[in-house]
Order: sequence, then structure tokens, then C-alpha cells
Amino acid sequence: MAKKIIPKKITKKISSPKIDEQDSSAQLAQPTQTAPIKKKCLFCKNETTPAYTDIQSLRKFISERDKILPKLRTGSCSKHQRGLTLQIKYARHLALLSFTPKV
Ligand SMILES: [Zn+2]
Repeated sequence: MAKKIIPKKITKKISSPKIDEQDSSAQLAQPTQTAPIKKKCLFCKNETTPAYTDIQSLRKFISERDKILPKLRTGSCSKHQRGLTLQIKYARHLALLSFTPKV
């Protein structure tokens, strides 16, 4: 009785799961390998620094609800992102930019 059970278990382990794992990993790996789009920092590219007087350029880094966009969305480097937030806050304090959108 025991001899009949053992070969069945071995055949199941060898045959099905290994092939499935390889196939699924290969299928999953292909769509994830698409390279993410890398955005470059506009201030590094143009060799400028964010200024509170330049409102038109600051508006690019503000959302519809007048929130400061994160650097993952704007693509700016961390050094310029820190300066950007400060300059936007200066501009808000001087009423050049709004804190909240008009209703
Ligand atoms: Zn930069």
C-alpha cells in the first residue's frame, strides 16, 4: 500500500509547480521591466534658482487646489524642491500666490 502512494507524490512535485513558477515569473517580469520616465530638474537644466518674484514659473509647481506638488511629480531635485517650497510660501505671504483656490 505504501509503495503505491510514494511515486504519486513525487510525480506531482516534480511535474507541475516548478514549470508554473518559472512561467509566471517570466510573464510577470516583462511588464514591470518598462523603464520609468525620468524627469530632469528644470532649475538644474536652465541653471536658475526659484524666486518668489517669478510667479509664472512657480505656478507650474502648484496643483489646481493650490497645493505644492511633490518632487516625484515635478521631477525637480531635492535641493531645488526645498528652495521652491520656500519661495512659494514667500509669494503666498506677499499675496502674489493664493493659499486656497477662489470659490
Ligand atoms: Zn535641481
